[in-house]
Amino acid sequence: MPRRRESSAPPVVYRTARVGLRATGGQRRRLFGLLRSGGDVWAAVLLLNRWRRQRGDRPLVGYQELCRELAAAGEGTFGELSTVGARSVLRAYSDAWMSAARRRRAGDETARFPRRRRGLVPVRFYAGTFTVDGGRVRLPVARGRPPLWVRLARPLPYPDGQVRSVRLTCAGRRLFLEVTAEVPVTVHPAGAGPDPDRVAGVDLGIIHPYAALAPRGGEGGRDAALLVSGRALRAEHRLHLAEAKARTRAAARRAPAPGRRGSRRWKQFRRRTRALEGRHRRRLAQARHEAAKAVASWAVAQRIGTLAVGDLRGVLARDAGRRQNKAVRDWAVGDLLRALADKAEQSGIVVEMVDERGTSSTCPACAARVAKPRGRVFHCRRCRFTGHRDLVGAANIAARASASAGAADGGSVVTGSPPVTTHRRAGRHLPGAGRSRRDPRRGLISRPPGRPIPTDPVVRGGGSIWPAVARPGTGPGSGESLAGTRREDQAPPHRGEPCLTRP
Ligand SMILES: [Zn+2]
Repeated sequence: MPRRRESSAPPVVYRTARVGLRATGGQRRRLFGLLRSGGDVWAAVLLLNRWRRQRGDRPLVGYQELCRELAAAGEGTFGELSTVGARSVLRAYSDAWMSAARRRRAGDETARFPRRRRGLVPVRFYAGTFTVDGGRVRLPVARGRPPLWVRLARPLPYPDGQVRSVRLTCAGRRLFLEVTAEVPVTVHPAGAGPDPDRVAGVDLGIIHPYAALAPRGGEGGRDAALLVSGRALRAEHRLHLAEAKARTRAAARRAPAPGRRGSRRWKQFRRRTRALEGRHRRRLAQARHEAAKAVASWAVAQRIGTLAVGDLRGVLARDAGRRQNKAVRDWAVGDLLRALADKAEQSGIVVEMVDERGTSSTCPACAARVAKPRGRVFHCRRCRFTGHRDLVGAANIAARASASAGAADGGSVVTGSPPVTTHRRAGRHLPGAGRSRRDPRRGLISRPPGRPIPTDPVVRGGGSIWPAVARPGTGPGSGESLAGTRREDQAPPHRGEPCLTRP
């Protein structure tokens, strides 16, 4: 979690971004060598402490005392790894040990001290030990070794003065740097920044990852609303699952018998599977961050100082059957929440967790209890209020924030006139989400029995079309991520009516 500095200096937050490395074959070998050496340092500390335990000595866990042991071994003991790199592994070990000790003292019996060797251990380099120049980075190596320059896949996303460290790490066969920077919290001109008394409620959902409503927060005292559609995210999950199943079916014959070595094609299949899993995860993470960014930007534009977010811990513990459980897992609500909290904090907006029980079944106009609607339309029989279900939830959540003046049980939360609603889509960059590219995985989704296959390849949705056929309505900019959409992309809930209104 981001930390704030304990002084009167302007508040800062720590942010980490991944930057890929474009390494040549030789550079790859050297970089993986550094990670392996990191693993050697880690293993050496584990071994040292095992010997000490056998002799009845106290384990060496302090960073300083471990560094003294390293200095005694001398630089170059661990391949090309420099002293600063090796020290970062000692720091990671010391931190892991201390945090386990703290948790055990607090009575957590499940906390474990580090004891497992790892082949590759990430290595961190602090500012001053590495150089970034012209799209390349120079990582420190042991004295006497040739300098190690590697090309970056993109420029560092932070100004030079803010970068505090880079961490060399890998996921599968991809190498990348995790760049950590100290980013100042946005300073807004006086009178134009977020106002703590302006509250918006945020309802986290599967159909809409974020639905936000600021009662009376829009122009002319109208309610302001934001709906972020998660349709592309759900499609990505569905297509990825279909692809994984089809691939497994196709490769099942090649699976090695227990105890047998896999064939080369089997190994290629496994490698490709891991690559596809990684791509799937990266796409989703990117889409979630963009969606959270859309909420933060909208909140800044409305000068909202407090985002009240419904606490969903009750929903997650419930067992709702195989399909729904997978949908809830895929939703990754913890990631959505973290992304929103991080971006809000950087914009100077406070996030407050409130109890969300009953917020989607209470009328925001008259506080009557209404059965949870099956579709997206909320309708109150008592006061004839009609509105978008997720925005109703957001309105009631907003009313529960401590800065809210309204009643916490709902009722007279919203003005009743239609809100100023902004629509955004999460994951517009995903293949098949825009109108310019068609996802080739579409062909893998099986069609429900009995539905005829249309003959026109343009309107035919589920058959395999290869190469992809552009769908009609392709216009410039339609592939842009999170571009505004004019029409709600769900089954139309309002039939021309505004989103939150009283007839
Ligand atoms: Zn009502």
